Amino acid sequence: MYEVFRDWDSAKVGLVDQLLKGEGFNTALRNWTGSNITSVPIPYMFPNVCVLNHEDFVRARKIVNDYFHAQPQASEEWQCPNCGEKVDGVYTECWSCQVPRADETTGSGQN
Ligand SMILES: [Zn+2]
Repeated sequence: MYEVFRDWDSAKVGLVDQLLKGEGFNTALRNWTGSNITSVPIPYMFPNVCVLNHEDFVRARKIVNDYFHAQPQASEEWQCPNCGEKVDGVYTECWSCQVPRADETTGSGQN
């Protein structure tokens, strides 16, 4: 058994369990009580999600990691290179002058 995720919050552990089951993993829950044991703050006792083989463990860790670190990237403001207006991240071109957002494109030698 390989432990993929451990947390005092059984709701979180349950969430990860469902996430991995949804991805087709055979998971096993350990120390699972269905409720939080806040009176026993011993990490050893915390509920955790396990998978059965190491190959699954590597994949499962990545999925869990991606899940908890997924950031909505669209909300970051950018500044129009043409008119200098601040443009909301959901737009791909300037709302003021319609100049497209400058991505990290290389190869234009113009200054
Ligand atoms: Zn503009």
